[in-house]
Formats: sequence, C-alpha cells, structure tokens
Amino acid sequence: MGKINILSKDTFNKIAAGEVVERPASVVKELIENSIDAKATEIYVEILEGGEKLIKIVDNGEGILEEDMRSAFLPHATSKIRTADDLFSIVTMGFRGEALSSISSVSRVLMRSKAVDNDGREILVEGGEIRYEKFSPMDQGTLMEIRDLFYNVPARKKFLKSPSREGSIISEIVSKISMAHPQISFRLMVEGKEVLRTYGTGNQKDVIRQVYNKKVYENLFYFENHYDSFSVFGYIGNEEISRGSRSHETIFVNKRLVQSKVITTAAEKAFKSFATVSRFPFFVINIEVFPEIIDVNIHPQKAEIKFEDESHIFKSVFGTIHSAMGEGLKDTFAIEEE
Ligand code: ADP
Ligand code: MG
Repeated sequence: MGKINILSKDTFNKIAAGEVVERPASVVKELIENSIDAKATEIYVEILEGGEKLIKIVDNGEGILEEDMRSAFLPHATSKIRTADDLFSIVTMGFRGEALSSISSVSRVLMRSKAVDNDGREILVEGGEIRYEKFSPMDQGTLMEIRDLFYNVPARKKFLKSPSREGSIISEIVSKISMAHPQISFRLMVEGKEVLRTYGTGNQKDVIRQVYNKKVYENLFYFENHYDSFSVFGYIGNEEISRGSRSHETIFVNKRLVQSKVITTAAEKAFKSFATVSRFPFFVINIEVFPEIIDVNIHPQKAEIKFEDESHIFKSVFGTIHSAMGEGLKDTFAIEEE
C-alpha cells in the first residue's frame, strides 16, 4: 500500500479553515466585510465569551437570494468575481469565497437572510453539514450567528487567549473597520456592554471621536492631496496626543487596513519635523488608488502592502502631511498671539 492519502473533504476544509479563521476576530472581520460588500448602511455586532460562545452580526444589506442560501457555504463560492480577469478590478472586500465555508466547518452557523422580492430563509450549518433550511420571514438583510467556534478543533481552541483579550482584539478590528467606512453606522456589544457606536455621518473625524475620545478629536490636522494615480487624505494628531508606541497609527488602502513601512516612515518623519518629544504620532491615513494598480490577491493574513513606486508614495505622504501640519501649527500660533 502506498503512503499517500487523499484527504477527506472534511479534513481538507478544516485545514483550509485554519488559513481564514485564526481566532474569533478573524470571523468578525470576514462577516463584517460581507455586510459591507452587501452595501449595508447599518451593521450590528455582538459577541459573548470573547466570541467563542457567540458572534452575531446583523446587517441591512442586499441579502442573499433564496436559491443561493446553500451554495454560499460551499468552498470557492462567491458572487463577487467570475474569472481571474476580474481580479484586476476588485472593488469588494471579499472575492475568495472561502469565509463562509471555512467558518461553518469549525462552528455552528445560523444564517437568516432576505433579498428584495424574496421571502426570508434560514439555514443551520454545523461543522460543514447542512442541518436544515426553512422559510423564515424577516426584513431585508442578513443575520449570522456563529456559535461554539472551534468546537470540533480542540487544538485550535487551546491557542485562544482569555475571553477579555479576544474581546479587545475584536473591538480593535471593528473600530478600525468603522473608521474606514464612516458612511456605515456600527454598533458593537461585547459581553452585553456597548463598546462602540458610530453614526454613519460619512465623516471620518466623527468616527475617530467615537473610537478614541474628545481629546484626540480636538487635536487633529486634516490633510488631503490628489496625484495622477492615487489620492491621500486623513488626520494626524499634534504632540498632545502622541504616543509611546505605534498603537494609534492606522493606514487604509482602498478602505482595507494594511501595514506599510514606507507610509509609516513618511508620516512619522513629517511628524518629527515639528515635534519636540521623541514619540509616535496618532494618524489615520487613507490612500485611494485605482483597483488596477494594487494587487489584492495577496494572502489574507499578509497585510503588508507593496507599491510599485515607493519613493513617489514616500514623498507624497511626507509632503502632504508636512505641509498640513506646518499650516495647522501656523494657524494655532496665530490664534494664540491674538
Ligand atoms: P466572498 O466574500 O469572498 O464572496 P464568503 O464565503 O465570505 O465569500 O461569502 C460567500 C457569498 O455569500 C458571498 O459572495 C455573498 O454572495 C454571500 N454573502 C455572505 N454574507 C453576506 C451578507 N451579509 N449579505 C449578502 N450576501 C452575503
Ligand atoms: Mg467574504
């Protein structure tokens, strides 16, 4: 007998799930991104026991067609792209069709959804197996309840941190996503307490105030600039709200949270040229580029983004922030002198 086995569908799905679903926060991120892709304007998130017991997400988006309820849980099932050519013009957060199949293979998922001109339906999937599907009237939108995450993969369950730690990782990710989408109102409940509420005003500064506080809100400089192939805009804090670590540095490229060494360095350098202390700035930097220019087809966990022309990005970000801070500080001193 040979040594090579062909893995069962169940085993394969559990391995694949490990790629997408590292911890409760990854489930929350994937589900919120689905709600955003469904053009929701309101997203409600609730978690219990750090998300291990329950992750609940309700949106008022487009909903899922009755005939798609089952296929949504199949591996590689997506309504967002058809062929590899579409990869060059991705405008949605998701496109791999992996999240629902992975999540449902390591948890118990109840999904209820209603699309326009459809009756609502609900479906229960446990460890990748469909338990039932039935008529279930509701308002347009989608509700997802993920229970008992990793109940059938004890090895992974062991790696989870305490519920309060997992809860704060979730709060952080929801806060960041809410800043990238100021037109959407978010509400996050952790262990029965409301920890975040945003109002969908469309103004990123309003969201920054909800995520951080009034002091941060009152110590920001706005910057904005447009170039041939991209735009940069956002907020940088003055010295008052500087930090001992990089914890309050946030970068979005086309509304996706990313890490970028070149953007970080450019912003910190601009900040340093006005600072009298050696600390890290508060900033939220948004870069908008044509979808053709960036390669989104990188591994979901690899958030470090690469730009073709790094020195152009560096100069643009540095220049934009430097001049906004220069102008801003001039205005502040002018007021103080009056
Ligand atoms: P992807 O987002 O990469 O397409 P997912 O596994 O996350 O893959 O979702 C599979 C499909 O299920 C989506 O393409 C979409 O059609 C549908 N779907 C999932 N969540 C929602 C939602 N909240 N609202 C509407 N449709 C959804
Ligand atoms: Mg998705």
